[in-house]
Amino acid sequence: MTVEPIRLAIVGLGKIARDQHLPALRANPAFALVATVCPLGARAEGVPGFASLEDLHAAGLAFDAVAICTPPQVRHRLAAEALGRGRHVLLEKPPAATLSEVASLVDLAGEAGLTLFAAWHSRFAVGVEPARRWLADRGILGARITWREDVRVWHPGQAWIWQPGGFGVFDPGINALSIATRILPGTLSLTDAELELPANRDAPIAARLALRTATGAPIAVDLDFRQTGPQTWDIEVETDAGALLLSKGGAVLALPGEIRQASDAEYPALYARFAELVRSGSSDVDTAPLRLVADAFLRGRMLRTDAFDD
Ligand code: NAP
Repeated sequence: MTVEPIRLAIVGLGKIARDQHLPALRANPAFALVATVCPLGARAEGVPGFASLEDLHAAGLAFDAVAICTPPQVRHRLAAEALGRGRHVLLEKPPAATLSEVASLVDLAGEAGLTLFAAWHSRFAVGVEPARRWLADRGILGARITWREDVRVWHPGQAWIWQPGGFGVFDPGINALSIATRILPGTLSLTDAELELPANRDAPIAARLALRTATGAPIAVDLDFRQTGPQTWDIEVETDAGALLLSKGGAVLALPGEIRQASDAEYPALYARFAELVRSGSSDVDTAPLRLVADAFLRGRMLRTDAFDD
């Protein structure tokens, strides 16, 4: 039996859409890329481009789904519009700017019988599922998350990241939290937080969080946007059977006596999951990583620091 491809439009044709979504979609026969939407006129070769989602709808083009790859501040409005018009929705991370926005999208998708996928791409890094399986039956003694990168290298010209709802250092940091909430058993809770806010910015440049596992093991989280030189995306977990280290954002897994690594295939796996969800008529929306970020803003001390210049 032939299965028709899912006709998909990319909304927001910026860095992540070009680097990852376009190649993953073009390599996956389960999808047909039919359009892109970008206000300032960016276009993908061979595909019609529109300045807004309204214009795409007005053009009468047939499509089944959208992948929303915009900054988080506008994600809810676009996703609500797409769901309202009967389209399945993939949300880049973070799924929206607030938890209540995500809850409203879950309601809209449920009422319309459509798929909503909060796509935590770091959970598809090759080391993550083996790490989860290895940790599942071990006693967790504690963990340390170090996510330090150079904002000038990875986010040049992205003004939105420093604006309210832009997440600042939590933009990469939420990737670490998406992995931690996947591999560590039970619910993680936040007990303390300290956020550094530059005098000229509306989002934090660094954050230190104290979390604990369901069994009370401490997790120290160190997020920083000012790292120069080697970049660090590591999660170390101490267990009663030795230490686990996930490094390079989850691509390399070191277990006692063993190192596993493979080439990056996060987005191909992410789109395979989206296809499976659409075909099975289900949704996948886990807000645990976003909840920890929201808790950090609720519970954290704000430290004003010197102005930061790009
Ligand atoms: P980006 O390079 O700034 O791209 C964002 C794009 O969204 C721009 O092309 C922008 O278009 C477009 N946009 C803004 N408002 C829009 C609207 N109302 N309708 C349609 N398009 C709109 O940002 P990015 O790095 O791709 O990041 C986007 C999201 O992906 C963020 O949430 C980020 O956390 C996530 N992400 C990024 C990476 C990464 O490595 N960069 C990795 C994983 C996930 P204009 O330029 O025309 O305004």
